[in-house]
Amino acid sequence: MPAKRDAQVSHPDCPVHADHRVQHQFPEKVRFCPLCGSEMKPRIVLPDRKRFKVCDRCGFVYFPGPKLVAGCLITANGRVLLLRRGIEPQVGKWTFPGGYVDLGETPAAAALRETREETGMQVQLGRVLGVYADPAAPIVAVVVYMAKAGIEQASVTDEATEVRYFSPTEIPWQELAFSTTREALSDWLSQLSQEKGPPLP
Ligand SMILES: [Zn+2]
Repeated sequence: MPAKRDAQVSHPDCPVHADHRVQHQFPEKVRFCPLCGSEMKPRIVLPDRKRFKVCDRCGFVYFPGPKLVAGCLITANGRVLLLRRGIEPQVGKWTFPGGYVDLGETPAAAALRETREETGMQVQLGRVLGVYADPAAPIVAVVVYMAKAGIEQASVTDEATEVRYFSPTEIPWQELAFSTTREALSDWLSQLSQEKGPPLP
């Protein structure tokens, strides 16, 4: 059970952080319709005949799906930029800049915005490196763009307490934040070695 919020914290003008222990109860614990507030019950929904929660009164169907995350793998001189996370989840661990795509925003715009918010850098997006999800818990899908840095130096923020470039041999594999971080970096490295061609005999 989450801690009971005191009067000051629940004031509408007081900013809050999302509590991941609460967020992870979604969608199992959804009880009421977000449109009309009536009770929702599991029903078989056509045409796929899957069971979803449906509002008894207005018919609204809750179709939960994975959240989309977009991020940037910023590279320079064969090195990759990583940041040490300043906030939960996985605070203190390393990953690339990125975050949730807002409703009404494109993945590319979200990757640029999150990179600017977390590191202060205006980057130029390149190709998509890949789309990643943890098969054990596919609650997010992560679109990763290759990116080139502009003229700004990376700066630390509340969300990124340390920001630096790593050469392929320096990547802190034991301290990476997510399995999707590990997978994207592995893809980048294998593509890097393909670009260089086979090692000389
Ligand atoms: Zn309803």
